[in-house]
Amino acid sequence: MVSQPLRCSDVRAPMDHCQPVRLAKVYEVVRQTGRWLIPARCLLCSSAACPPGVDLCQLCMADLPAAPAWTADVVPLSGVFCAWGYEYPIDRLVRALKFHGDRSVAGALGALLAMHVADRCVPLPEVLVPVPLHPLRLRERGYNQADEIARHLAGRLSLRRLPRALERIRATAPQSQLPAAQRRSNLAGAFNVPARMVATVAGVDVALIDDVLTTGSTAQSAAQALLEAGARRVELWALARSGGDASS
Ligand SMILES: [Zn+2]
Repeated sequence: MVSQPLRCSDVRAPMDHCQPVRLAKVYEVVRQTGRWLIPARCLLCSSAACPPGVDLCQLCMADLPAAPAWTADVVPLSGVFCAWGYEYPIDRLVRALKFHGDRSVAGALGALLAMHVADRCVPLPEVLVPVPLHPLRLRERGYNQADEIARHLAGRLSLRRLPRALERIRATAPQSQLPAAQRRSNLAGAFNVPARMVATVAGVDVALIDDVLTTGSTAQSAAQALLEAGARRVELWALARSGGDASS
């Protein structure tokens, strides 16, 4: 008997599984409201000298690590853009976003990533699609960090965001636990464009949004699903590039 891949619609969440998502939304509303009352402070040094809408001061921004060169094969992606290297303090900020519920990081780094992208002087895509989490991981975390970043990018760049254009239909082993040869096959067929979204992605240029690029296999698999659904081209925008373990 051949086992069928797990689809989002197959996951029946008990009522209380919605709780982390609701609490995360409440937290975000409270945090955004607080911004009007309390001046933003730098996420790294607590300086109050932050540019409007960016929770990092100019000095800390200037010290962010440059992204290392990326020479690996990215097909079927049409391009890869990473703003920084996955080292201190970017690694600390990304871990705060992913594992400690600090969604303010997505706002700060999303705003800076938007500036970097706009500075490239190349045509912007038409839509932003965050790399989805598997429903079980999304339920556990309460939010998708890639979608948090995409939300801020969409606002800054006036681009349409499609958080449901892709679904992760198969839970996969962490890439960091696999030998290089198995990493691509681990992600093969892990993503799908739901039938209701096919007409929306058909014929458009997409920027796939993720937090950290490690091997590129996740983005390549996600891009393949979008291209098979008819997207014209798919490039990846990520906060940082890692040579090590930044998975999950
Ligand atoms: Zn600072």
